Amino acid sequence: MSSVSPIQIPSRLPLLLTHEGVLLPGSTMRTSVDSARNLQLVRSRLLKGTSLQSTILGVIPNTPDPASDAQDLPPLHRIGTAALAVQVVGSNWPKPHYTLLITGLCRFQIVQVLKEKPYPVAEVEQLDRLEEFPNTCKTREELGELSEQFYKYAVQVIAIRPIRRITHIPGALEDEDEDEDHDDIVMLEKKIRTSSMPEQAHKVCVKEIKRLKKMPQSMPEYALTRNYLELMVELPWNKSTTDRLDIRAARILLDNDHYAMEKLKKRVLEYLAVRQLKNNLKGPILCFVGPPGVGKTSVGRSVAKTLGREFHRIALGGVCDQSDIRGHRRTYVGSMPGRIINGLKTVGVNNPVFLLDEVDKLGKSLQGDPAAALLEVLDPEQNHNFTDHYLNVAFDLSQVLFIATANTTATIPPALLDRMEIIQVPGYTQEEKIEIAHRHLIPKQLEQHGLTPQQIQIPQVTTLDIITRYTREAGVRSLDRKFGAICRAVAVKVAEGQHKEAKLDHSDVAEGEGCKEHILEDAKPESINDATDLALPPEMPILIDFHALKDILGPPMYEMEVSERLSQPGVAIGLAWTPLGGEIMFVEASRMDGEGQLTLTGQLGDVMKESAHLAISWLRSNAKKYHLTNASGNFDLLDNTDIHLHFPAGAVTKDGPSAGVTIVTCLASLFSGRLVRSDVAMTGEITLRGLVLPVGGIKDKVLAAHRAGLKQVIIPQRNEKDLEEIPGNVRQDLSFVTASCLDEVLNAAFDGGFIVKTRPGLLNSKL
Ligand code: ADP
Repeated sequence: MSSVSPIQIPSRLPLLLTHEGVLLPGSTMRTSVDSARNLQLVRSRLLKGTSLQSTILGVIPNTPDPASDAQDLPPLHRIGTAALAVQVVGSNWPKPHYTLLITGLCRFQIVQVLKEKPYPVAEVEQLDRLEEFPNTCKTREELGELSEQFYKYAVQVIAIRPIRRITHIPGALEDEDEDEDHDDIVMLEKKIRTSSMPEQAHKVCVKEIKRLKKMPQSMPEYALTRNYLELMVELPWNKSTTDRLDIRAARILLDNDHYAMEKLKKRVLEYLAVRQLKNNLKGPILCFVGPPGVGKTSVGRSVAKTLGREFHRIALGGVCDQSDIRGHRRTYVGSMPGRIINGLKTVGVNNPVFLLDEVDKLGKSLQGDPAAALLEVLDPEQNHNFTDHYLNVAFDLSQVLFIATANTTATIPPALLDRMEIIQVPGYTQEEKIEIAHRHLIPKQLEQHGLTPQQIQIPQVTTLDIITRYTREAGVRSLDRKFGAICRAVAVKVAEGQHKEAKLDHSDVAEGEGCKEHILEDAKPESINDATDLALPPEMPILIDFHALKDILGPPMYEMEVSERLSQPGVAIGLAWTPLGGEIMFVEASRMDGEGQLTLTGQLGDVMKESAHLAISWLRSNAKKYHLTNASGNFDLLDNTDIHLHFPAGAVTKDGPSAGVTIVTCLASLFSGRLVRSDVAMTGEITLRGLVLPVGGIKDKVLAAHRAGLKQVIIPQRNEKDLEEIPGNVRQDLSFVTASCLDEVLNAAFDGGFIVKTRPGLLNSKL
């Protein structure tokens, strides 16, 4: 290196107090100037007109002081750095403010402060040698040597103290909001050291924490890496619960928690028994398929309880991005692990029961196919090595017990379906619903609302009213919600009552028995609702009868619907058998100008389509007899006419011959313009010649008609023997018409019979 001459800094320096960190000799930093003291210094020492004065300043680090404009000089650090201001920028608006770019020259020590105002000036002693380099170009070698030296010293400095504490980081945290952070990192490192994660994961963590320690906190990657490491140490790599399995206890628990659903409980017990004997989870995943609210999730929860495992539900409905399952790669801010890893973090053990809810509602999008990711999760051959994109190391899922649920198998991706054993969970009968309500739903709701049976009583007839008139579902979810609504309303009354009782007691004490009697005489039952001070508290228990129901839940929903839907010609009620029990089924018809086309909608099977064609043919051939005409008064019903038949609900597949009589009745109504009786339901197969043939499922169908509040049921004559199976109370409520031909059906379905004896021209006036 060429020779250099030492230079001396002035023995008196104006002092600039900065709170943005320590300026090192040889380094440059920006510092903002807004305190009165520093502003004065800048104005009188650095600025002259618009040019920058070359003045050496003494820069002293100073902790920020809310009262920095206070008159007194704060206590000063003894050591500072002499610096040159390289640039000054700033403005006077809205208040005076400058930013200085300063370069450190060498350290100095304050000998004494000479003056404090308007800015401090001190006598100083130079601590480092400061050399002036001759103003000649350095050779490449010299520069190389210098930079090497700089690197060597920088590394030494970093080794002595963490880098972020001695360099200037714009917007860096305080030494303290920093110490804590440092402690956290030390803790994190310790957790990594003591974690029982697999070797591969451990290696990654060690590498990442090393990187983290060198990173300034202000880097976005700092937070990313830290979050990642925190997740890694939190994950239950080796933490599990011990399975306890006693098949007899499991049976009792399942029975206690769930009424009915015998088939499902039996299959679950078999599954658990095999698990116990085989002691591993390899094999198909159980998938409970059935309508909402039939207890699928609830059984899943019981399985976890039986095994003493943690339970976690993963909702898959609407998931259409595979990173939802497998996580986002850790390349951008906001990346997260997928739901599986998140679930494991939540439960804190590696062998929970995961309920994959609604696998039939998985979507697909440009972001990949989540079903494919799920396949990997569920495959026992692969899932011990499941790699979430965020984690980027394998996690062993082989101890997780997966149970899936779905409403239908039709939309479950075939590859996924292949891995599953389907267990159908059917809907409940009315009677089962009543039992479930009184054994499980009502007690649970009372508990949730802080009510006791001494305060509220819901008789079985009321439950039946809710089931038939306020809900229409295969499961019990809406039923449960209705009980919730009732409990809320009763809770208000009970709380109000307690308040009134307290008031009455008070007046009782104050004015004696006579006064209470007086109140009792005066209070009318209706005044209970008025919440007036004189009203009596409601009598306990509050009985929920139909009047209370109407008051709380509003008028019944489903009675109205039947009569509303039958308020125009071309609608009739049929009875259908489904795996969920009997159902009433509306058949709707409309006609329009056309070329004799018949359109059928509502997902019908072939047999049902044939019934529709039979019905049309029979009506066409009997049009004259019944005076049925098309829109232009013509007996040829399909002349210039199209017919549309629809069977709601449109999404449910329907088949079978038993809708024959309903289709005929519906079309007879359409072509005659007459309304079908709104309290009649019917079932029966038809022939081309108008005979009515027997059908199956009479008991379920009649129960459905009863449930829907209908009054009359038309059944084939040859099904009369099946009526013996119908419970007595149902038989009493209904009247039955047994029909052997379509004439008899139509006569029963229309008020006043159907055979019209008037001339066609008079038909409309008769209507
Ligand atoms: P799903 O998962 O089939 O949609 P849930 O398991 O969420 O239905 O059930 C809804 C509610 O009904 C839960 O409170 C559940 O406990 C209750 N439930 C359903 N079926 C039964 C049953 N057979 N016995 C007792 N409670 C039941």
